[in-house]
Amino acid sequence: CNMSKKMNSDQRRKVVVVGAGAVGSTYCYSLAQSGLADDIVLIDKNDDLAQGQVLDLVHGQPFFPTVSIRVGTPADYSDASLVVVTAGVGQKPGESRLELLKKNAGIIGSIADEISKQNCPGVLLIVSNPVDIMTYVAIRHTGWTYGRVFGSGTVLDSARLRYLLGTHCNIDVHSVHAYILGEHGDSEFAAWSLANIAGIQIDKYCPMCDKCSDWMEIRKGMEKEVRESAGQIINYKGATNFAVGLAIVRITAAILRGQKSVMTVSTLLQDEFGIKDVCLSVPCIVSENGVMEIIKTVLPESEQAALSSSAAVLRKAIIEAGIA
Ligand code: NAD
Repeated sequence: CNMSKKMNSDQRRKVVVVGAGAVGSTYCYSLAQSGLADDIVLIDKNDDLAQGQVLDLVHGQPFFPTVSIRVGTPADYSDASLVVVTAGVGQKPGESRLELLKKNAGIIGSIADEISKQNCPGVLLIVSNPVDIMTYVAIRHTGWTYGRVFGSGTVLDSARLRYLLGTHCNIDVHSVHAYILGEHGDSEFAAWSLANIAGIQIDKYCPMCDKCSDWMEIRKGMEKEVRESAGQIINYKGATNFAVGLAIVRITAAILRGQKSVMTVSTLLQDEFGIKDVCLSVPCIVSENGVMEIIKTVLPESEQAALSSSAAVLRKAIIEAGIA
C-alpha cells in the first residue's frame, strides 16, 4: 500500500543498481562495506550474472555492516532513494562511436522511462558512458526537475588528478584539491585556477616548492595522464572498476546523508558559464535531492574557452546522434 511505500522511502535507504558488470558489481561491493545503504538491489538484463553477483556478495554479509542485498526488478524503482545506472554495451569490432552512442542511448532511455513510470521518488545517477550524453538522454526521458538526474562526470578524473598531484608533491591526497572539468572524455581539462594544496592556490604553491624545476610542463603531463588513464587501464585489464566504484560510493554518501559535498558531477547547464542544453562536469553541490547548485565561479579565459569547446564537442555528438 502507499503507506508502506512511503515508510520505505522515508526510513530505508534503498539503492537500485542497474548493470551487474565490472562497474556495477564493484560499486555494490564497496557500497556494502560503507554501511550507507539498508537495501542494495541489483538488476541486469543478464539475470544469471545478477544472481551470481548477489550470491557472491551476500556470502560476505558476516564481514560488513548489516545490509540486504538481492536481485530486483523494475518494480524496485518505486521506493528507491537512489538508482545508479551502469548498464551498457561495449564497442563491437568495426562499430563506430556514433553507432555505439545510439545503442547506449536506447538502453539508457528505456531504463529512464521505466524509472519514471514506476514513480521513483529518488535520485538518478548515470555512470554508463559516454556519461555526459547518457545523462542528457536520461534527463530528457524522465522529465524530472533540475538536479535529480545527473552523471558521475569527472569525479573519477578529478580523483586521478589529486592522486597524481599528491604523489608528485609528496603530500597526503586529502590535503590536495583539484578538479577536472568538462566532458568525461577527450576534451576534459584540469582547472588549475581551482587547484590548491593546504588552501594555497597551486600557482602560488609551485614556485615556493623546490621539488620540480618545470612545474608547468609537469602539470601538462599530469593532465595528459588523467585523460589517458581509462584507456591505459582498459588496455591492461579490460575494464576500470575499483576507483570508479569508490567514486560512486562517495557520490552516494553525499545523496543518502545529505552532505552538500562539492563534486565535479555531470549536470545540465542552463546558461551557467555561458553554456546551455548540454550536460558536463563543473563543481556542483550534491545533496539528498541530487545537484542542489552549480558553483558559478568565473574561470580564467583559457579555462572558460576549454569548457566552452568541451561543451561544443558534446553538443555536436548529441545532434549527430539525433537525441537533441
Ligand atoms: P560491463 O559490460 O561489465 O557491464 C555492463 C552490464 O550492463 C552488463 O552486465 C550487461 O548485461 C548490462 N546491461 C546491458 N543492457 C542492459 C539493460 N538494458 N538493462 C540492464 N542491464 C543491462 O561494463 P562495465 O565495465 O561495468 O561498464 C559499465 C558502464 O560504465 C560502461 O558504459 C562504461 O563505459 C561505464 N564506465 C563509466 C565510468 C565513469 O567514470 N563514468 C568509469 C568506468 C566505466
